[in-house]
Amino acid sequence: MKILVINAGSSSLKYQLIDMETESVMAKGLCERIGIGGHLKHTPLVGGKPVYNEDIELPTHAEAIAAVIDKLTSAEYGVVGSMKEIDAVGHRVVHGGEKFASSVLIDDAVMEAIAQCTPFAPLHNPANITGILACRKVMGDDVPMVAVFDTAFHQTMPKKAYMYALPYDYYKQDGIRRYGFHGTSHKYVSSRCAEIMGKPIEELKLVSCHLGNGSSICAVDGGKSVDTSMGFTPLAGLPMGTRSGDLDPGAMQFIMNKHHLAIDEMLNVLNKKSGVDGVSGVSSDFRDLDSAAGEGNDRAKLALDMFAYWVAKIAGSYVAAMNGVDAIIFTAGVGENSADTRKAICDYFGYLGVTVDPEANKKRGEDVMISTPDSKVKVYVIPTNEELVIARDTRDIVSGK
Ligand code: ADP
Repeated sequence: MKILVINAGSSSLKYQLIDMETESVMAKGLCERIGIGGHLKHTPLVGGKPVYNEDIELPTHAEAIAAVIDKLTSAEYGVVGSMKEIDAVGHRVVHGGEKFASSVLIDDAVMEAIAQCTPFAPLHNPANITGILACRKVMGDDVPMVAVFDTAFHQTMPKKAYMYALPYDYYKQDGIRRYGFHGTSHKYVSSRCAEIMGKPIEELKLVSCHLGNGSSICAVDGGKSVDTSMGFTPLAGLPMGTRSGDLDPGAMQFIMNKHHLAIDEMLNVLNKKSGVDGVSGVSSDFRDLDSAAGEGNDRAKLALDMFAYWVAKIAGSYVAAMNGVDAIIFTAGVGENSADTRKAICDYFGYLGVTVDPEANKKRGEDVMISTPDSKVKVYVIPTNEELVIARDTRDIVSGK
Protein backbone atom coordinates (compact mmCIF):
# COMPACT_ATOMS: atom_id res chain seq x y z
CA MET A 1 0.00 0.00 0.00
CA LYS A 2 1.30 3.48 -0.90
CA ILE A 3 0.10 6.47 1.09
CA LEU A 4 0.51 10.16 0.31
CA VAL A 5 0.86 12.25 3.46
CA ILE A 6 -0.09 15.92 3.12
CA ASN A 7 0.55 18.77 5.54
CA ALA A 8 -1.06 21.89 4.06
CA GLY A 9 -0.28 25.35 5.43
CA SER A 10 -1.74 28.66 4.28
CA SER A 11 0.88 29.16 1.55
CA SER A 12 2.84 25.91 1.73
CA LEU A 13 2.25 22.19 1.33
CA LYS A 14 4.60 19.44 2.56
CA TYR A 15 4.23 15.89 1.32
CA GLN A 16 5.69 12.40 1.56
CA LEU A 17 4.81 9.30 -0.41
CA ILE A 18 5.29 6.31 1.91
CA ASP A 19 5.48 2.65 0.92
CA MET A 20 3.73 0.89 3.81
CA GLU A 21 5.27 -2.54 3.00
CA THR A 22 8.62 -1.20 4.23
CA GLU A 23 7.43 2.03 5.91
CA SER A 24 10.00 3.84 3.77
CA VAL A 25 9.66 7.25 2.14
CA MET A 26 9.62 6.98 -1.68
CA ALA A 27 9.59 10.74 -2.31
CA LYS A 28 9.11 13.91 -0.32
CA GLY A 29 8.79 17.57 -1.09
CA LEU A 30 7.57 21.04 -0.36
CA CYS A 31 5.45 23.54 -2.30
CA GLU A 32 6.00 27.12 -1.13
CA ARG A 33 4.67 30.59 -1.98
CA ILE A 34 1.28 29.18 -3.03
CA GLY A 35 -0.91 32.09 -4.15
CA ILE A 36 2.00 34.54 -4.27
CA GLY A 37 4.17 32.92 -6.97
CA GLY A 38 5.17 29.34 -6.38
CA HIS A 39 8.09 27.00 -5.82
CA LEU A 40 8.31 23.22 -5.74
CA LYS A 41 11.14 21.13 -4.36
CA HIS A 42 10.57 17.43 -5.05
CA THR A 43 13.04 14.83 -3.82
CA PRO A 44 12.70 11.24 -5.10
CA LEU A 45 14.30 8.76 -2.68
CA VAL A 46 14.05 5.59 -4.77
CA GLY A 47 15.10 4.77 -8.35
CA GLY A 48 18.04 7.20 -8.46
CA LYS A 49 15.92 10.01 -9.94
CA PRO A 50 17.12 13.64 -9.73
CA VAL A 51 15.76 16.35 -7.41
CA TYR A 52 13.35 18.89 -8.96
CA ASN A 53 13.76 22.37 -7.48
CA GLU A 54 12.11 25.16 -9.51
CA ASP A 55 9.88 28.22 -9.34
CA ILE A 56 6.52 27.33 -10.91
CA GLU A 57 3.17 29.12 -10.91
CA LEU A 58 1.05 27.81 -8.01
CA PRO A 59 -2.01 30.12 -7.86
CA THR A 60 -3.91 27.79 -5.47
CA HIS A 61 -3.42 24.57 -3.49
CA ALA A 62 -5.12 22.66 -6.36
CA GLU A 63 -2.28 23.57 -8.74
CA ALA A 64 0.20 22.64 -6.00
CA ILE A 65 -1.34 19.16 -5.57
CA ALA A 66 -1.50 18.75 -9.35
CA ALA A 67 2.20 19.64 -9.59
CA VAL A 68 3.05 17.16 -6.81
CA ILE A 69 1.11 14.34 -8.53
CA ASP A 70 2.73 15.26 -11.84
CA LYS A 71 6.23 14.95 -10.32
CA LEU A 72 5.41 11.75 -8.40
CA THR A 73 4.29 10.08 -11.65
CA SER A 74 6.61 11.70 -14.22
CA ALA A 75 9.17 9.67 -16.16
CA GLU A 76 12.03 11.94 -15.13
CA TYR A 77 11.32 12.57 -11.41
CA GLY A 78 8.62 10.02 -10.60
CA VAL A 79 8.54 7.09 -8.19
CA VAL A 80 5.21 5.53 -9.29
CA GLY A 81 3.75 4.77 -12.73
CA SER A 82 0.44 6.57 -12.27
CA MET A 83 -1.85 8.21 -9.72
CA LYS A 84 -3.76 4.89 -9.42
CA GLU A 85 -0.81 3.48 -7.43
CA ILE A 86 -1.53 5.95 -4.60
CA ASP A 87 -3.96 3.98 -2.43
CA ALA A 88 -4.90 6.65 0.11
CA VAL A 89 -4.09 10.14 1.39
CA GLY A 90 -3.45 11.10 5.02
CA HIS A 91 -3.96 14.76 5.91
CA ARG A 92 -2.53 16.48 8.95
CA VAL A 93 -5.25 18.59 10.57
CA VAL A 94 -4.27 20.84 13.47
CA HIS A 95 -7.44 21.12 15.53
CA GLY A 96 -10.08 18.46 16.11
CA GLY A 97 -11.55 20.10 19.23
CA GLU A 98 -13.49 17.65 21.42
CA LYS A 99 -15.05 16.09 18.32
CA PHE A 100 -12.08 13.90 17.35
CA ALA A 101 -10.23 11.65 19.77
CA SER A 102 -8.67 9.65 16.93
CA SER A 103 -8.03 9.79 13.20
CA VAL A 104 -11.04 9.50 10.90
CA LEU A 105 -12.04 8.73 7.30
CA ILE A 106 -12.95 12.03 5.65
CA ASP A 107 -16.52 12.48 4.44
CA ASP A 108 -18.84 15.50 4.23
CA ALA A 109 -19.79 15.30 7.91
CA VAL A 110 -16.11 15.19 8.92
CA MET A 111 -15.34 18.21 6.70
CA GLU A 112 -18.16 20.08 8.42
CA ALA A 113 -16.86 19.11 11.87
CA ILE A 114 -13.31 20.23 10.96
CA ALA A 115 -14.76 23.54 9.76
CA GLN A 116 -16.58 23.89 13.11
CA CYS A 117 -13.19 23.67 14.87
CA THR A 118 -11.84 26.61 12.82
CA PRO A 119 -12.48 29.24 15.53
CA PHE A 120 -9.99 27.31 17.70
CA ALA A 121 -7.27 27.35 14.99
CA PRO A 122 -8.16 30.22 12.66
CA LEU A 123 -4.89 30.10 10.72
CA HIS A 124 -4.38 26.36 10.50
CA ASN A 125 -7.71 24.57 10.03
CA PRO A 126 -8.77 26.59 6.94
CA ALA A 127 -5.41 25.75 5.31
CA ASN A 128 -5.87 22.07 6.17
CA ILE A 129 -9.40 22.16 4.69
CA THR A 130 -8.07 23.84 1.54
CA GLY A 131 -5.49 21.04 1.21
CA ILE A 132 -8.15 18.32 1.51
CA LEU A 133 -10.46 20.02 -1.02
CA ALA A 134 -7.56 20.52 -3.45
CA CYS A 135 -6.66 16.83 -3.17
CA ARG A 136 -10.28 15.81 -3.80
CA LYS A 137 -10.39 18.03 -6.88
CA VAL A 138 -7.20 16.63 -8.37
CA MET A 139 -7.43 12.99 -7.25
CA GLY A 140 -11.20 12.46 -7.44
CA ASP A 141 -13.72 10.92 -5.02
CA ASP A 142 -12.44 7.34 -5.18
CA VAL A 143 -9.17 7.78 -3.28
CA PRO A 144 -9.87 7.39 0.47
CA MET A 145 -8.62 10.26 2.62
CA VAL A 146 -8.01 10.32 6.35
CA ALA A 147 -7.68 13.25 8.75
CA VAL A 148 -5.09 12.94 11.54
CA PHE A 149 -5.39 15.58 14.25
CA ASP A 150 -2.62 17.23 16.34
CA THR A 151 -5.04 17.44 19.25
CA ALA A 152 -6.54 13.90 19.16
CA PHE A 153 -3.88 12.11 21.25
CA HIS A 154 -4.55 14.50 24.15
CA GLN A 155 -8.29 13.80 24.32
CA THR A 156 -7.50 11.18 27.00
CA MET A 157 -6.48 13.90 29.49
CA PRO A 158 -8.58 13.81 32.67
CA LYS A 159 -10.89 16.75 33.21
CA LYS A 160 -8.86 18.04 36.18
CA ALA A 161 -5.89 18.41 33.77
CA TYR A 162 -7.65 20.03 30.83
CA MET A 163 -9.94 22.47 32.64
CA TYR A 164 -8.92 26.08 33.26
CA ALA A 165 -10.00 27.58 36.56
CA LEU A 166 -12.37 30.00 34.81
CA PRO A 167 -16.14 30.41 35.15
CA TYR A 168 -17.47 26.99 34.08
CA ASP A 169 -19.68 28.39 31.32
CA TYR A 170 -16.63 29.37 29.26
CA TYR A 171 -15.90 25.66 28.97
CA LYS A 172 -19.49 24.53 28.55
CA GLN A 173 -20.59 27.15 26.04
CA ASP A 174 -17.37 28.10 24.27
CA GLY A 175 -15.12 25.05 24.59
CA ILE A 176 -12.36 26.97 26.41
CA ARG A 177 -10.00 24.29 27.81
CA ARG A 178 -6.55 22.81 27.33
CA TYR A 179 -6.44 20.89 24.03
CA GLY A 180 -2.71 20.35 23.53
CA PHE A 181 -0.80 19.93 20.25
CA HIS A 182 2.09 17.87 18.76
CA GLY A 183 -0.11 14.82 19.53
CA THR A 184 1.15 12.74 16.59
CA SER A 185 4.75 13.35 17.67
CA HIS A 186 4.16 12.51 21.34
CA LYS A 187 2.24 9.40 20.26
CA TYR A 188 5.02 8.24 17.93
CA VAL A 189 7.97 8.74 20.29
CA SER A 190 6.18 7.26 23.30
CA SER A 191 5.20 4.07 21.45
CA ARG A 192 8.69 3.85 19.92
CA CYS A 193 10.18 4.27 23.41
CA ALA A 194 8.12 1.33 24.71
CA GLU A 195 9.36 -0.76 21.76
CA ILE A 196 12.98 0.14 22.47
CA MET A 197 12.54 -0.61 26.18
CA GLY A 198 10.93 -3.94 25.29
CA LYS A 199 7.97 -3.28 27.61
CA PRO A 200 4.22 -2.95 27.01
CA ILE A 201 3.37 0.77 26.84
CA GLU A 202 0.46 0.09 29.24
CA GLU A 203 3.06 -0.46 31.99
CA LEU A 204 5.13 2.68 31.38
CA LYS A 205 5.09 6.25 32.67
CA LEU A 206 6.83 8.48 30.13
CA VAL A 207 7.60 12.19 29.83
CA SER A 208 7.88 13.18 26.16
CA CYS A 209 9.71 16.45 25.42
CA HIS A 210 9.06 17.73 21.88
CA LEU A 211 11.53 20.62 21.67
CA GLY A 212 11.63 22.41 18.32
CA ASN A 213 10.65 25.84 17.11
CA GLY A 214 7.40 25.12 18.90
CA SER A 215 7.86 23.04 22.02
CA SER A 216 5.61 20.99 24.26
CA ILE A 217 5.90 18.32 26.92
CA CYS A 218 3.47 15.47 27.42
CA ALA A 219 2.88 13.11 30.34
CA VAL A 220 2.12 9.70 28.83
CA ASP A 221 0.79 7.22 31.39
CA GLY A 222 0.08 3.73 30.09
CA GLY A 223 0.21 4.98 26.49
CA LYS A 224 -2.31 7.76 27.12
CA SER A 225 -1.71 11.51 27.29
CA VAL A 226 -2.67 12.61 30.80
CA ASP A 227 -1.32 16.16 30.63
CA THR A 228 0.48 18.42 28.18
CA SER A 229 2.01 21.87 28.30
CA MET A 230 0.35 23.55 25.30
CA GLY A 231 -3.15 24.71 26.02
CA PHE A 232 -6.14 26.20 24.28
CA THR A 233 -3.60 27.38 21.70
CA PRO A 234 0.04 26.44 20.99
CA LEU A 235 1.16 29.61 22.81
CA ALA A 236 1.08 28.03 26.27
CA GLY A 237 3.66 26.20 28.34
CA LEU A 238 7.39 26.41 27.64
CA PRO A 239 9.17 29.48 26.30
CA MET A 240 9.77 28.60 22.61
CA GLY A 241 11.68 29.99 19.61
CA THR A 242 9.54 33.13 19.40
CA ARG A 243 6.56 32.26 21.65
CA SER A 244 6.41 33.37 25.26
CA GLY A 245 4.84 30.29 26.79
CA ASP A 246 3.02 30.76 30.11
CA LEU A 247 2.82 34.21 31.65
CA ASP A 248 0.66 36.21 34.01
CA PRO A 249 -2.27 37.71 32.03
CA GLY A 250 -1.93 40.74 34.32
CA ALA A 251 1.43 41.47 32.67
CA MET A 252 -0.34 41.64 29.31
CA GLN A 253 -2.81 44.20 30.60
CA PHE A 254 0.05 46.33 31.94
CA ILE A 255 2.04 46.17 28.67
CA MET A 256 -1.05 46.89 26.54
CA ASN A 257 -1.95 49.96 28.61
CA LYS A 258 1.60 51.28 28.85
CA HIS A 259 2.49 50.80 25.16
CA HIS A 260 -1.00 51.34 23.70
CA LEU A 261 -1.18 47.91 22.10
CA ALA A 262 -4.39 46.35 20.81
CA ILE A 263 -4.97 42.69 21.74
CA ASP A 264 -3.89 41.50 18.26
CA GLU A 265 -0.64 43.47 18.56
CA MET A 266 -0.05 42.00 22.01
CA LEU A 267 -0.64 38.48 20.70
CA ASN A 268 1.75 39.20 17.85
CA VAL A 269 4.43 40.08 20.43
CA LEU A 270 3.69 36.91 22.41
CA ASN A 271 3.71 34.67 19.32
CA LYS A 272 6.43 36.19 17.16
CA LYS A 273 8.72 38.38 19.26
CA SER A 274 9.06 36.56 22.55
CA GLY A 275 10.55 33.23 23.66
CA VAL A 276 14.32 32.70 23.46
CA ASP A 277 14.41 35.19 20.57
CA GLY A 278 12.85 37.94 22.65
CA VAL A 279 14.95 37.29 25.74
CA SER A 280 18.27 36.95 23.90
CA GLY A 281 17.73 39.58 21.19
CA VAL A 282 19.94 37.22 19.12
CA SER A 283 17.85 34.55 17.40
CA SER A 284 15.13 31.94 17.79
CA ASP A 285 17.54 29.29 16.53
CA PHE A 286 19.31 27.32 19.26
CA ARG A 287 22.43 26.96 17.09
CA ASP A 288 22.83 30.77 17.04
CA LEU A 289 22.13 30.93 20.78
CA ASP A 290 24.74 28.25 21.52
CA SER A 291 27.42 30.14 19.60
CA ALA A 292 26.45 33.55 21.01
CA ALA A 293 26.47 32.15 24.56
CA GLY A 294 29.85 30.55 23.83
CA GLU A 295 31.16 33.99 22.85
CA GLY A 296 30.03 35.43 26.17
CA ASN A 297 26.60 36.88 25.25
CA ASP A 298 24.82 36.96 28.64
CA ARG A 299 21.29 37.28 27.27
CA ALA A 300 21.77 34.30 24.94
CA LYS A 301 22.96 32.32 27.96
CA LEU A 302 19.97 33.53 29.99
CA ALA A 303 17.56 32.42 27.23
CA LEU A 304 19.14 28.95 27.15
CA ASP A 305 19.12 28.74 30.96
CA MET A 306 15.45 29.74 31.07
CA PHE A 307 14.54 27.16 28.43
CA ALA A 308 16.28 24.29 30.25
CA TYR A 309 14.78 25.42 33.56
CA TRP A 310 11.24 25.47 32.17
CA VAL A 311 11.58 22.06 30.53
CA ALA A 312 12.86 20.60 33.82
CA LYS A 313 10.13 22.35 35.80
CA ILE A 314 7.23 21.14 33.65
CA ALA A 315 8.71 17.65 33.19
CA GLY A 316 9.10 17.44 36.97
CA SER A 317 5.48 18.43 37.49
CA TYR A 318 4.45 15.54 35.22
CA VAL A 319 6.50 13.10 37.29
CA ALA A 320 4.40 14.30 40.22
CA ALA A 321 1.17 14.06 38.17
CA MET A 322 1.94 10.43 37.21
CA ASN A 323 3.44 9.56 40.60
CA GLY A 324 6.60 8.32 38.92
CA VAL A 325 8.45 8.08 35.62
CA ASP A 326 10.25 5.27 33.79
CA ALA A 327 11.77 7.26 30.93
CA ILE A 328 12.19 10.78 29.60
CA ILE A 329 12.22 11.27 25.82
CA PHE A 330 13.74 14.10 23.78
CA THR A 331 12.59 14.75 20.22
CA ALA A 332 12.23 17.44 17.45
CA GLY A 333 14.86 19.92 16.18
CA VAL A 334 16.33 20.99 19.53
CA GLY A 335 15.59 17.75 21.41
CA GLU A 336 17.22 15.63 18.71
CA ASN A 337 20.22 17.83 17.95
CA SER A 338 21.29 19.95 20.89
CA ALA A 339 23.39 17.80 23.24
CA ASP A 340 24.11 20.86 25.41
CA THR A 341 20.40 21.59 25.92
CA ARG A 342 19.69 17.94 26.81
CA LYS A 343 22.59 17.95 29.29
CA ALA A 344 21.41 21.22 30.87
CA ILE A 345 17.90 19.78 31.30
CA CYS A 346 19.05 16.41 32.64
CA ASP A 347 21.25 18.16 35.22
CA TYR A 348 17.98 19.02 37.00
CA PHE A 349 16.94 15.36 37.17
CA GLY A 350 19.51 14.22 39.74
CA TYR A 351 16.68 13.70 42.24
CA LEU A 352 15.22 11.09 39.88
CA GLY A 353 18.53 9.22 39.76
CA VAL A 354 19.16 10.28 36.14
CA THR A 355 22.76 10.11 34.93
CA VAL A 356 23.69 10.97 31.34
CA ASP A 357 26.40 9.19 29.35
CA PRO A 358 28.32 12.06 27.64
CA GLU A 359 29.44 9.83 24.73
CA ALA A 360 25.93 8.55 23.97
CA ASN A 361 24.62 12.12 24.27
CA LYS A 362 26.86 13.14 21.31
CA LYS A 363 25.09 10.77 18.85
CA ARG A 364 22.64 12.21 16.32
CA GLY A 365 19.94 11.11 13.92
CA GLU A 366 19.12 7.74 15.52
CA ASP A 367 17.18 6.27 18.44
CA VAL A 368 19.62 6.31 21.33
CA MET A 369 19.58 5.87 25.10
CA ILE A 370 21.65 8.74 26.50
CA SER A 371 21.39 7.71 30.17
CA THR A 372 24.00 5.41 31.70
CA PRO A 373 23.01 1.74 32.14
CA ASP A 374 22.65 2.24 35.92
CA SER A 375 20.51 5.40 35.58
CA LYS A 376 17.31 4.81 37.58
CA VAL A 377 15.19 6.67 35.03
CA LYS A 378 16.13 6.09 31.38
CA VAL A 379 16.59 9.00 28.96
CA TYR A 380 16.15 8.53 25.20
CA VAL A 381 16.59 10.63 22.09
CA ILE A 382 14.04 9.45 19.53
CA PRO A 383 13.77 11.29 16.18
CA THR A 384 10.11 12.05 15.67
CA ASN A 385 8.22 10.88 12.60
CA GLU A 386 4.80 12.52 12.40
CA GLU A 387 4.38 11.55 8.74
CA LEU A 388 4.73 7.87 9.62
CA VAL A 389 2.02 8.14 12.30
CA ILE A 390 -0.27 9.80 9.74
CA ALA A 391 0.50 7.08 7.19
CA ARG A 392 -0.05 4.25 9.72
CA ASP A 393 -3.37 5.69 10.91
CA THR A 394 -4.44 6.15 7.29
CA ARG A 395 -3.53 2.55 6.43
CA ASP A 396 -5.36 1.19 9.48
CA ILE A 397 -8.51 3.18 8.75
CA VAL A 398 -8.72 2.46 5.03
CA SER A 399 -8.00 -1.23 5.55
CA GLY A 400 -10.72 -1.36 8.24
CA LYS A 401 -8.42 -2.24 11.16
P1 ADP B 1 9.35 23.04 14.03
O1 ADP B 1 8.71 23.29 15.35
O2 ADP B 1 9.33 24.23 13.12
O3 ADP B 1 8.93 21.73 13.37
P2 ADP B 1 11.90 21.72 14.38
O4 ADP B 1 11.47 20.61 15.24
O5 ADP B 1 12.35 21.43 12.99
O6 ADP B 1 10.87 22.92 14.37
O7 ADP B 1 13.10 22.47 15.15
C1 ADP B 1 13.77 23.55 14.56
C2 ADP B 1 14.76 24.10 15.56
O8 ADP B 1 15.70 23.06 15.92
C3 ADP B 1 15.65 25.20 14.99
O9 ADP B 1 15.05 26.45 15.12
C4 ADP B 1 16.87 25.10 15.86
O10 ADP B 1 16.68 25.94 16.98
C5 ADP B 1 16.90 23.67 16.36
N1 ADP B 1 18.07 22.94 15.85
C6 ADP B 1 18.19 22.29 14.67
N2 ADP B 1 19.45 21.76 14.58
C7 ADP B 1 20.11 22.07 15.72
C8 ADP B 1 21.42 21.81 16.24
N3 ADP B 1 22.31 21.10 15.54
N4 ADP B 1 21.73 22.30 17.46
C9 ADP B 1 20.84 23.01 18.15
N5 ADP B 1 19.59 23.29 17.73
C10 ADP B 1 19.23 22.83 16.53
